[in-house]
Amino acid sequence: MSSHLVQPRADEVAQHCEALCRQLHETLLGEGKSRAWQPKCEVMLHPSRPSYMRAVGSGGTQTIGSSAIRIQSGKVLHRRIDLLAEDRSRALSALRHEMIHVLFAELFPEAAPPRWAEEGLALLHDSDDKRARHLNDLRQALETKTTIPLTRLFATADYPTGWQRAVFYGQSMSVVEYLTQLDASDEFLRFVKLCTETGHESALRTVYEIDSLDDFEHGWRQHILASLASKS
Ligand SMILES: [Zn+2]
Repeated sequence: MSSHLVQPRADEVAQHCEALCRQLHETLLGEGKSRAWQPKCEVMLHPSRPSYMRAVGSGGTQTIGSSAIRIQSGKVLHRRIDLLAEDRSRALSALRHEMIHVLFAELFPEAAPPRWAEEGLALLHDSDDKRARHLNDLRQALETKTTIPLTRLFATADYPTGWQRAVFYGQSMSVVEYLTQLDASDEFLRFVKLCTETGHESALRTVYEIDSLDDFEHGWRQHILASLASKS
């Protein structure tokens, strides 16, 4: 059986980008309108996997979206999103994820934000079925007691390799989801910024009035177990 895939139109993607940017500024930063980016973000639509792979390299075998940002002396010099645009709805959903990465580069041009916070927020903006897969990876890690200790998760600078990568994704997404429902979304970005300046324990105290990492871990585990139980 062959499925009929509809590719997105370029003008539709451009409109979608502007609307998305406005929406993210509103929900994440509490700002009524988005700032005009200079330079603008290039969005490349690739009609086929080989064309996408030529642009993003060998890391693109498993993905349909990728972002590349060049920053020098605290200023963004270049930003670009590559999308494998074989299927309209998958491409537009990948765009939402990559836009979070581009937005984070704009917000944190000096010191890179914690990897878990950026990736976790991007994953929260993925499609329902992708989020369900990440949640399932986390469920398995909880069952086999292979979750990443939070001190290590918070200190992770690069994506883990092997099986820990799936745990990293599921756990990062869940921790960000927990934090964003503790308070307003713009408080989450204030917390991420403070993490880069004063460390996560002090940031947890200042923004969420959580006294220690142990208290935080306890709250997060209760939240995730309740949420998994409600879904099974
Ligand atoms: Zn990502």
